[in-house]
Amino acid sequence: MLTDTFTTDPYWWDAAPPDAAATDELPEETDVAIIGSGFCGLSAALELARAGVRATVLEAGPLGIGASSRSGGMVSSGQKLVLTDVLKGFGEEEKNHALEDSAATYSFLQELIAREQLDADLQVCGRFFGAWTPKDFTTLQAHAELLARRTGVTTRVIPRHRQREEIGSDFYHGGILVEEYGGVHPAKYNRALRGAARRAGAGLHAFAAVQGWDRGPGGLNVRTARGTVRAKHLVVSTNGYTTADALPWFRRRLVPVTAFIIATEPLSPEVMDSVIPKRRMISDTRKELSFFRPSPDGTRILFGGRPDALRNDERSAAVGLRARMVSVFPQLRDVRISHAWRGNVCMTFDKLPHLGREEGVHYALGCNGNGVALMSWMGQQTALNILGRQNRLPAFQDRPFPAAPFYRDRAWFLPLVSAGYHLQDFARRPGTVIAERRARRSA
Ligand SMILES: Cc1cc2nc3c(=O)[nH]c(=O)nc-3n(C[C@H](O)[C@H](O)[C@H](O)COP(=O)(O)OP(=O)(O)OC[C@H]3O[C@@H](n4cnc5c(N)ncnc54)[C@H](O)[C@@H]3O)c2cc1C
Repeated sequence: MLTDTFTTDPYWWDAAPPDAAATDELPEETDVAIIGSGFCGLSAALELARAGVRATVLEAGPLGIGASSRSGGMVSSGQKLVLTDVLKGFGEEEKNHALEDSAATYSFLQELIAREQLDADLQVCGRFFGAWTPKDFTTLQAHAELLARRTGVTTRVIPRHRQREEIGSDFYHGGILVEEYGGVHPAKYNRALRGAARRAGAGLHAFAAVQGWDRGPGGLNVRTARGTVRAKHLVVSTNGYTTADALPWFRRRLVPVTAFIIATEPLSPEVMDSVIPKRRMISDTRKELSFFRPSPDGTRILFGGRPDALRNDERSAAVGLRARMVSVFPQLRDVRISHAWRGNVCMTFDKLPHLGREEGVHYALGCNGNGVALMSWMGQQTALNILGRQNRLPAFQDRPFPAAPFYRDRAWFLPLVSAGYHLQDFARRPGTVIAERRARRSA
């Protein structure tokens, strides 16, 4: 079931590993210190450095070690805002503003990749959303109309009898397609952003975990594992890797959730054609969401999700995700898994991203599972705030950032939430969930 070379490192790192060599001495002072070397921190650093401002990225581990090089790399704009009730507290004007911003995240990503000539394997290949039940298909049809009307994308409804044009499986009850959505190679994108930020003049420093800061004359003294840096501004862009010891105010507002992805061994073009003929990105309406895609070179299937809330290791995830993959694609029953890895997504209590300032410290946090384009854009917007170049504040800026009572950093409620999702999926398709459980046990 696993290849001889099976590893718990991300498949993406085969081509673009995190950078552990960035150990130059820290500067004594900088204009802007940025905590975290994901898409958000690097995008902020790039924008600042291009404006001639000294930007210094401080990363706890090797550069790019967080979610940004572990992601599924699927890119879209705004579908969660349109299709869920997260904007329910917004007035009509605010809602439109949020949707415009959300669409802007994806155009920003495309423009950034083109402008900086980033080697990121961006593919605008379309995304198929599969319906887990017939009722979900009806809901998805309404979603297709809403997405087209409110975000300007091109959608198509794919009834079950035409589903095999999009996906080599009868697992779903039809679905919808959004033509403009696509994917990147997230670790190559992160590496390319590191290169662009450096070329623009930013300093990037690995193994410089920020431990805290004090306010001093003219700025902040930022204490790190490798010494103190004096900075006029500080940006927190640590998303699902925010820790309570260094960043307690932020951590109380964030819930890191582990997600897993597996990669298959290389598959022949015939098998790939039989699985995802048009090489689309795919996700579904299951409560315990599955998301999957071809590798950018079209040779493997990468299959992600959170298969078992009670077991939290990569090998169990490999077994659970493989069972799910084979339940969607029985033709992959003999295929082995070469990689299984984990990463943290970052949920917030209102399911919205947040950017703003707390006691003079800037932050851009809360991807809620969907951050390749969003967090890149949030980093850039934070830089524009610092530069005083914002002519319209983002819709997610300076909104109340809720914490939860009695919550510091131990998310005791997560297994309950996951169990609830699992039960809902079971209630809606018991046969499938039981078959997957059996396949997992017999693996
Ligand atoms: C398995 C998985 C699949 C995903 N799939 C998708 C997808 O298909 N599409 C999509 O849009 N999004 C996806 N996401 C989400 C997306 O990857 C993230 O939203 C995005 O990468 C977050 O970028 P970031 O820069 O905010 O944070 P990160 O990339 O997580 O970077 C934060 C960094 O902060 C560092 N850090 C933390 N504390 C400190 C400290 N005290 N000092 C110094 N450094 C510190 C961490 O080490 C880390 O490197 C996925 C995430 C995961 C985990």
